[in-house]
Amino acid sequence: MQYIPNLIFALLLVAGVYFFVGNVKRIIRNIKLGKDVDRSDQKSERWANMARIALGQSKMVRRPVSGLLHIIVYAGFIIINVEVLEIILDGLLGTHRLFLPILGNGFYGFLIGTFEVLALLVLVAVIVFWIRRNVIKIKRFLNKEMTGWPKNDGNFILYFEMVLMSLFLIMNATDAHLQAAGIGNIVSQFIAPLFSGISPEGLHTIERVSWWIHITGILVFLNYLYYSKHLHILLAFPNTFYANLKAKGQFSNNKNVTKEVQLMMDPNADPYAAPAEDEGEPEKFGASDVTDLNWVQLMNAYTCTECGRCTSVCPANLTGKELSPRAIMMKTRDRLQEVGKNIEANNGTFQDDGKQLLGDDYITQEEIWACTSCNACVEECPVNIDPLSIIMDMRQYLVMEQSAAPQELNAMMQNVENNGAPWPYSQMDRLNWVNEE
Ligand code: SF4
Ligand code: SF4
Repeated sequence: MQYIPNLIFALLLVAGVYFFVGNVKRIIRNIKLGKDVDRSDQKSERWANMARIALGQSKMVRRPVSGLLHIIVYAGFIIINVEVLEIILDGLLGTHRLFLPILGNGFYGFLIGTFEVLALLVLVAVIVFWIRRNVIKIKRFLNKEMTGWPKNDGNFILYFEMVLMSLFLIMNATDAHLQAAGIGNIVSQFIAPLFSGISPEGLHTIERVSWWIHITGILVFLNYLYYSKHLHILLAFPNTFYANLKAKGQFSNNKNVTKEVQLMMDPNADPYAAPAEDEGEPEKFGASDVTDLNWVQLMNAYTCTECGRCTSVCPANLTGKELSPRAIMMKTRDRLQEVGKNIEANNGTFQDDGKQLLGDDYITQEEIWACTSCNACVEECPVNIDPLSIIMDMRQYLVMEQSAAPQELNAMMQNVENNGAPWPYSQMDRLNWVNEE
């Protein structure tokens, strides 16, 4: 009978981890639907990027207030979770504060005290985050893509954090009464008086209920990640590691196509020069669906934190155009999820559902042609996501597969082809201005 709580806890833990592993497998399978791209070069620069941007949060602090608050939540989240190790072991072994005799009062108290201070700071930070979203209503949280689930998701996670941190402090406050040890109760000593006058049985019940909700909440949180923008707490690391290291604005072109264009535009180009490295005929130019994108672009979609920093600097968005780079990433993720579910429902093969990423269901042509290709979104993203690469791949598809460029662009390309310049004047007339009086 006395082992029933341990057994229930073990079952809960196994179920939580089992579903989490299943979700991780789904994400990996979906990311692997993307085309191959080699990002195995410049390893030291990649490690440095990951350490600086994902671990060191260097791009977050470009906006000091949200950056600092995010660092508090991030550091608190990681450090406080050390305590979860003890909670899990206590749950499995039926012990209480297993590490106390091992670490000794002094060091254990120091750790608990540190966790408590962090828990308080995290609590304050998430309350400020909540106020910024819901009371101050900062503009980038109000774009039209931030309604419904994305809005609720942003708030849910803040409630999660508030509840988890409060329960942690309540656990310690009630325990301080029970054990009269006062070990590390730097913050909870101020909460403890709220529980004075309650019988030891009552205190024990409150402490146990807090403990169970706390650990259950952590397991639920682990599985909630799959449905949430908060996947970035895991994916920010590989995402920054595998980010594009080429200079911004440098695109990967098919060498054979590049040579054709050179021959067309440069009268001095030698048609018999060494042939371009043969890359073979691509099955399809550009991208119209998620499976045409590469795996890093798909990982980008799962990593997007929906912070809207990209959209807040996008000149197209700022001038009232349809485009939002954040929405590009969110729609890519939504479509990827849809394709993944389709594959699951059809025994591992995708059945055509009549939809694709580019089109009225997800990203419209109006959106992608609104982009100025300025790279501001890429520069601003705190986790090195590249919405522009998806936009450019879709443009390539429209131009090279569908001949569906906007009229203005077609006219410009025709002029380049005929006149070697974007203007509608013959090359023969170029020097006419010299003879003008
Ligand atoms: S590259 Fe395009 S999407 Fe990105 S900020 Fe510039 S205009 Fe906006
Ligand atoms: S792409 Fe980057 S900047 Fe834009 S919303 Fe996602 S995480 Fe934020």
